[in-house]
Amino acid sequence: MNARSTNGRRPLHVLIAGGGVAGLEALLGLRHHAQERVSIELLAPEPQFWYRPLSVAEPFGLGRVHGLDLSSVADECGALFTLGGLRGIDTRRGTALTSTGAELDYDALLIAVGARPVESVPGAFTFRGPADSAAFGALLDELGKGKGKRVVFALPGAVSWPLPLYELALQTASRLPALEVVIVTHEEAPLQLFGPAASSAMADLLSDRRIHVRTSSYPVAFENRSLLLTPDWELEADYVVTLPRLEGPRLEGIPSDAQGFISTDGSGRVKGLDAVFAAGDATTFPIKQGGLATQQADAAAEAIAGLAGADVVAEPFRPVLRGLILTGGAPLYARAELSRAGNPASVATDALWWPPGKIVGRYLAPYLAERSGAILDPPIEPEGVPVEADLSSLASAK
Ligand SMILES: Cc1cc2nc3c(=O)[nH]c(=O)nc-3n(C[C@H](O)[C@H](O)[C@H](O)COP(=O)(O)OP(=O)(O)OC[C@H]3O[C@@H](n4cnc5c(N)ncnc54)[C@H](O)[C@@H]3O)c2cc1C
Repeated sequence: MNARSTNGRRPLHVLIAGGGVAGLEALLGLRHHAQERVSIELLAPEPQFWYRPLSVAEPFGLGRVHGLDLSSVADECGALFTLGGLRGIDTRRGTALTSTGAELDYDALLIAVGARPVESVPGAFTFRGPADSAAFGALLDELGKGKGKRVVFALPGAVSWPLPLYELALQTASRLPALEVVIVTHEEAPLQLFGPAASSAMADLLSDRRIHVRTSSYPVAFENRSLLLTPDWELEADYVVTLPRLEGPRLEGIPSDAQGFISTDGSGRVKGLDAVFAAGDATTFPIKQGGLATQQADAAAEAIAGLAGADVVAEPFRPVLRGLILTGGAPLYARAELSRAGNPASVATDALWWPPGKIVGRYLAPYLAERSGAILDPPIEPEGVPVEADLSSLASAK
């Protein structure tokens, strides 16, 4: 580990592992707060950032997920981009170990490596994001040709961010009105995370689209056209679509829970380690969502900026959930303050935040909006115009 510099002589060297939502929010936030007091290195195993939420629009021809070149973003922020994965840390020497065998020095390390999707319902189609949108499009084509009468969208208990499943179900029902669409969920009410008003708005919408909902049921496995559920029940289906369970990154030298997730305090400090922070899906926070990942990254960036000697009030993470739900018609906006008593919540068809994107982040959302307004316009079917979220244009944006 390098000697710390909070006296202005040498910038604090911050290593950010992960070029996803939390990593980029932290990069932008840190540059904003600490400016020249920090030198930043961004480490990621792949050279691009993917705007994952639009993968639920892509199969319906309403959006396209493009990559954003991480080295260009790093350049723009005066940071260094290094290709490679964080394998862990050598706590004795205070260095980061990478997948390429290189050891990287840091004064502060932010771990924003996300989570790993794993199969949750054997036999079902698992929708993980951009990697599965073409296959889901092919499934829609099959259904459109009449190959199947009933499709079940099943939300397993281990999945804490249910929105993509509801979005796929709503858009499928809207695209193929003759199809029987069923949602099976472990929740007691649809979209329970966002409180009773959002649940009831979602229930109305599902009923308008003639989508049947079975709550308090856990999908177990799909075989021989039968979806096995707990408590004891079976449901016949032609296809079952589900979301993956997430596992933590399990990094060498980083304490983690049984699922591999990293425990932090409100400022993102990893418990028991000096100058090591974590944010986003890799942490033990139970809801894995982009907006929450940016809020965690903001808290960590402020704390790290403080270490660098910047005059910043470090605010702890106070989770506010914001969900823009693609419905196949007018989108729904839902908001819930998870850290306030009673979790005050609201739901509306008008934007409840600005810019009204799917991933909300103090620095990341305006950064993306300035460069590609398209990703902010929620795709609306059928009268709306398809959205081209061409993030490749960001590579050359100034
Ligand atoms: C289909 C779908 C739709 C979604 N829709 C929404 C939505 O509408 N709104 C919303 O807020 N959230 C949404 N989410 C959730 C959101 O995408 C995640 O919560 C968010 O991306 C988490 O951010 P993160 O930075 O923690 O992880 P990620 O965004 O997954 O980024 C992880 C980064 O770390 C890199 N990495 C991986 N391993 C290593 C390593 N060992 N070392 C270094 N880097 C590594 C990866 O390459 C990547 O760059 C959706 C998710 C899915 C799957």
